[in-house]
Amino acid sequence: MSYARVLCAGLLGVAGHLVEVEADLSNGLPTLLLTGLPDTALNEARDRVRAAIVNSGRDWPNRRITVNLLPAALPKHGSGFDLAIAVAVLAGAGELPATRLDGVALIGELGLDGTVRPVRGVLPMVAAAAQAGISRVIVPVANACEATVVPGVTVRAVDTLHRLVEFAQGSGTLLDPPAVPPAPPPAGPDLADLAGQEIGRYALEIAAAGGHHLALFGPPGAGKTMLAERLPSILPELDDEAALEVTALQSIAGVLPADGRLVRRPPFQAPHHSSSLAALVGGGSGLVRPGALSLAHRGVLFLDEVPEMSRATLQALRQPLESGRVVLSRARGTTEYPARAQLVVAANPCPCASPAGDHACHCPPTVRRRYLGRLSGPLLDRIDMRVNLLPVRAAQLMADSAPAEPSRAVAARVARARESAAARWATNGWRVNAEVPGPVLRRAPWRLPARDTAVLHGALDRGALSARGYDRCLRLAWTVADLDGRDRPSEGDVCEAYQLRMGEAAGRVPK
Ligand SMILES: [Zn+2]
Repeated sequence: MSYARVLCAGLLGVAGHLVEVEADLSNGLPTLLLTGLPDTALNEARDRVRAAIVNSGRDWPNRRITVNLLPAALPKHGSGFDLAIAVAVLAGAGELPATRLDGVALIGELGLDGTVRPVRGVLPMVAAAAQAGISRVIVPVANACEATVVPGVTVRAVDTLHRLVEFAQGSGTLLDPPAVPPAPPPAGPDLADLAGQEIGRYALEIAAAGGHHLALFGPPGAGKTMLAERLPSILPELDDEAALEVTALQSIAGVLPADGRLVRRPPFQAPHHSSSLAALVGGGSGLVRPGALSLAHRGVLFLDEVPEMSRATLQALRQPLESGRVVLSRARGTTEYPARAQLVVAANPCPCASPAGDHACHCPPTVRRRYLGRLSGPLLDRIDMRVNLLPVRAAQLMADSAPAEPSRAVAARVARARESAAARWATNGWRVNAEVPGPVLRRAPWRLPARDTAVLHGALDRGALSARGYDRCLRLAWTVADLDGRDRPSEGDVCEAYQLRMGEAAGRVPK
């Protein structure tokens, strides 16, 4: 027989797809043809597969070989098809029986010497195979752990093409995936090591409970970064669906740790203000890498010194933040990655970034206004809360002898508030208050009595609050009520929400 068919898997965005690799060998000029929308990396597979087969001590069939990847209409990226192509060619040439690999998906890149190399995105590929009814996969050793995350699939690993061929011939064995060590206790920064900062801590708790975007203003040393990087520590763990999404994105980006455990903690991404557009939103040739925006999916995206970011960068962030997804257009079609992140931005009140804050800064007010004005248009209106932080002074640090509340305690309150909100919006499918559309909150049965929202109406009439800002205040008020265990916001909750919105919780509003 000079025809063989082997199973493999490919990626389209964050979703995997089962791919069939067919090889047909016929008499004619010796050549290897690849059909089925191969990209450049896949075209290079031709040379890798040939060298790997020869260097594994096998004969390269000197015949006219056609390799076809199905479904033909699906774009195929990357080098993960090498292993399946090599086996299809060898099986088609009658060098090995395909029976032992029947119904097994093979994923892996080949080195010229016949070693099997890891590829990105193995987790979503194995998940797709499982969904298509495939219960056995063979993957590179370095990807074996992440493949075992998918339930209902038997994972075996290979280090060389030689080992796989011997196994198919019935004379060799495959490798077991390395044992996954028990999960270490959740590490990471804790609110317990943060002295003072009552306003900042409170705003962080509200942001976590309602899923609200947060802006932190303050001079260097005020603890903006310390606060932001502690937000994940008070967010609930990811549910199964979210954990798979986040782990799959890390797998595609090639940043998943080798022990390949399912990621349960909400991710935290803090791209530098000078990061390239590709690093932020994603890019690259072949298998397009997700950027920081997508790696922060279901977690926190922290943009420090946000007025330093270029206008083009801020512009590029706007659409994904609104829609919750990144669409990357390439000559060979578009790739789409999810990007539903909670945003925390931070800024110094002034470009001189004077450490002592107001007292040492001699910049004219126009300079300060222009500096913060850079983020007002595209981003600031989408941010629910603004908080002004003051530098923590030595005297305060010494006076604060009582240990600060640890993240664990705050997380418990956040979880309770989130449960109340999720129960209230369950029939509509919203999980947190930040997801609730404004009109819903302004209509019965959720409309608040006019006397309780008087402060918002006044601000709206004065022009101090935009219509969008009005809705954001309502959402915040519901979160304040959820945290306090009230089933409806009171007038006090609405006032508090208004102050958080306007940055008045610490006295001064950045304009
Ligand atoms: Zn200044």
